[in-house]
Amino acid sequence: MAVQEIEFRSGHLCVDTDPALCVPCQERLDRQLALLPRVYGELEVALVPAPDSGDRVTGIDRPGIPLNGPAVEARAAIRGTLASWADLIVEGRTVRLPLRTVPALAAFLRRHLGWLAVHPAADDAATEIDALLQRSLMVARALPEGAAVPAGSCDAA
Ligand SMILES: [Zn+2]
Repeated sequence: MAVQEIEFRSGHLCVDTDPALCVPCQERLDRQLALLPRVYGELEVALVPAPDSGDRVTGIDRPGIPLNGPAVEARAAIRGTLASWADLIVEGRTVRLPLRTVPALAAFLRRHLGWLAVHPAADDAATEIDALLQRSLMVARALPEGAAVPAGSCDAA
């Protein structure tokens, strides 16, 4: 399944009686953290111009790689958000800082999810990461046709 097709229910999945995350919210957060590195990778595709985009200007200096602004911003938001929640865990647990890559940060957050889930900021983390993923998926869905479609997924003809 392409990441663009994945949907998550927004908001709290349970009755909101406790600042700690309930099991369904933890599980959703875990799935979302697992998905974010994939979305991050899909967004990278948008940063590379399509080989046959057909609107190349010849004869003048190339302005460099045409970057897709929303994709750049979405990638920066993913990295920044994961890094800030990882920092909270590092400070709270005196564990070693993970590598500042999106897969390493996401794996780190998943490993410490049980701790984060009972932190007073757990609900903020879940809300922020949920919103982050929804926004990122929206950007990924808006990528130019073909930019993020995995090979062999075409069912036309
Ligand atoms: Zn919940």
